[in-house]
This record gives sequence, C-alpha cells and structure tokens, in this order.
Amino acid sequence: QTTPGVSRLKPYQPGKPISELARELGLDEKAIVKLASNENPLGPSEKVVATLQSECADLARYPDGSGYQLKQALAAKLSVDPQGITLGNGSNDVLDLIVRAWVSPGDEVVFSEHAFAVYPISTLAASGQPVQVPAKDYGHDLVAMAAAITDKTRVVFIANPNNPTGNWLDRDALKTFLQSVPERVLVVLDEAYCEYIDHPDYPNGLDWLADYPNLVVTRTFSKIYGLASLRVGYSVSSVAIAEVLNRVRQPFNVNSFALAAAVAALADEDYVARSKAMNTDGLRQLEQGLDVLGLSYIPSLGNFITFDTGHNGEQVYQTLLKRGVIVRPVTGYGLPAHLRVSVGTPEENQAFLDALPAALSEVA
Ligand code: PMP
Repeated sequence: QTTPGVSRLKPYQPGKPISELARELGLDEKAIVKLASNENPLGPSEKVVATLQSECADLARYPDGSGYQLKQALAAKLSVDPQGITLGNGSNDVLDLIVRAWVSPGDEVVFSEHAFAVYPISTLAASGQPVQVPAKDYGHDLVAMAAAITDKTRVVFIANPNNPTGNWLDRDALKTFLQSVPERVLVVLDEAYCEYIDHPDYPNGLDWLADYPNLVVTRTFSKIYGLASLRVGYSVSSVAIAEVLNRVRQPFNVNSFALAAAVAALADEDYVARSKAMNTDGLRQLEQGLDVLGLSYIPSLGNFITFDTGHNGEQVYQTLLKRGVIVRPVTGYGLPAHLRVSVGTPEENQAFLDALPAALSEVA
C-alpha cells in the first residue's frame, strides 16, 4: 500500500514527444512544431556541444559529486558564496530535496492555485499537506498566502514568474511578503525563468539572501541556457540550508555531461543574449497573433504564454495535434479553457498561429 499522499498523485504529464506525434501523423519529425515544454528554440549552444564531446573520454568515472567547478563558475557569475549553492538534477530535484529535508508527514506546504506542478508532487510524495491558496488575477495572492501560514507550515513556494500562468511579482510585493513570514518557515523563490526578464521592478531574489536566512532561490539551466535534456539546476541559500540539502542529496545527482555543459553554457554570453532576444520578439509575435484572433492571454515574462481558447482547452489541444502542433493543456492546473504555448522560433510561432484558427473552428 502506498502512502496517503502518493495515493492522491497522478503521474506528471510531460509534453507529447515529437517522435510519437510524427509517427501517428505519418510525418517527418521536422514537420512537427513542439511548443509544449518551455524549451529553448535555439537548440544548445555550439560551445556546449563541443564541450560534451570531450566528456565522453571519462564515461567510466563517476562525476564530481561536489560539482566544484560549476559551483565556482556560478559563484563568480552571481557573486554568491559557492558554499550556499546546491546542485540538482534539474531544479526540480532541488525543490524535492527541500521538501524531503523540511517536511514531515502532516506538515503544511503553501503555494498558489495554478502554481508549478512539482510543488504538490513533492509535498504529497513526502506525505506533507499541500495548502493551495486561491490565485488573484491568475497570479499569487501574497496577502492570502501569508495568512495561510500556520504553526504547521514548513515551506512556502513562490514561482516568479509562475508557470503556467507567466505572471510575476514585483520587488515591493515580494519584500513585504518576506518580511511577514516567520523565520522558521522556508520561502522557496523559484526563478526558473528569471534570465529572460529585464523589467526594472522584477526583483533578483539573490539580493535578499543576506537579509532573509530562510530564503532559498532556485534556478535552472533548462531554459535560457538550453540544457533541458541534461537536467541541471541549483539553489542559492545560506550555507546552513545548503548543508542540510547536501545531507539528503544523492551523492552523484548531477552527471558529468550536465556539469561540464553548465560551465560552458554560463560562459557563452552571446548564446544567452540571442536566446533572450528571440524570446522577447517571440512573445510579442504570439501576443500580436492572439490579439488578431481576439483571444485573451495572461501577460507573461517567461518563455511561454497561456491563452484562453474560449473552448475546452483539451479539445483545442487535440485539434492542434492533428495539425502537427504540440502545445500544453493546463487543465491539471485548474485552467480547463486555457492552453500554454512556449515561445519558439519565428517560424514555429507562425506555424502555431496559422494552425490555431482552423483548430478553434473545428471545436466550435
Ligand atoms: N520551476 C518552474 C516554475 C518551471 O516551470 C520549471 C520547468 N518546467 C522548473 C522549475 C524545473 O525546471 P528543471 O527541473 O528543468 O530545472
């Protein structure tokens, strides 16, 4: 018999693989447009690919379990203490480590309605009690989240910006929230998409680490650094928190390819700049296209946008699939009429916008 928390879980539904849809439709894989998993449409940095080839020589050896070089590179880039960095097999792994280390059965974990799927998965897997706070305008209602904290609360998750809604919290709102949270409660600020954002009011969570010892900032190499397949992410926190996370971390949770690729990716600033520019333009292209079709969307600063189909989102998803376009239904996030589309290349964005009117009329 599984634990009560696990019995409440359903497996995470990833984006449909390109190869599977190509087979189903009898098409070449190149004909499929996948805008379903907030991946980087540029493909990996060439410098990263060159680095990976040299890693093949050492396949028989375990990776560096301490991730020394990557932590040094991150510490230099972010101006943080390398001892406050914890590396994970994707930032999902770090989110899970946090719950495993802090949440006992029955303890509460607070997050927002429509928030990232991994928060409830990790909470329930640890037999914690998820406390989902109703959203405000699809985003985090920080006042209600602060009010939801009880003596049993151990962790609060905040995604800034949030996936799948894309909305974000400004510096003042987040600072007020941090001030109101008791120090015994960990605040996890999930900044998976932060590198895409230039807005002057968008806060850098790292700036607050010195003032709030209960703050953990998580980030990833899966998005702007284009390394989703290698699975590498990290948290930055106090050294004391990192020391706890390292107790529960599997000894070799990040493989050698991921470690080497992440170091090379951090150094390839040109690739990051191109990714960011492509995303800014792509977001605008998608917004304009949705405007033309008269569809409303939740304003996003991430590499995706979630829009209201005005119909059953799952059905529109299916009709888009038939046209070779993979997006993401968000019914599981409590948004049954919406779909999330990731920003692709200009051509991919256009292919999605071209397929959408016919897909919508088919379900109307
Ligand atoms: N947080 C958020 C808000 C995300 O959207 C994602 C990716 N979907 C992650 C964390 C995890 O990313 P990864 O495990 O690939 O680092």
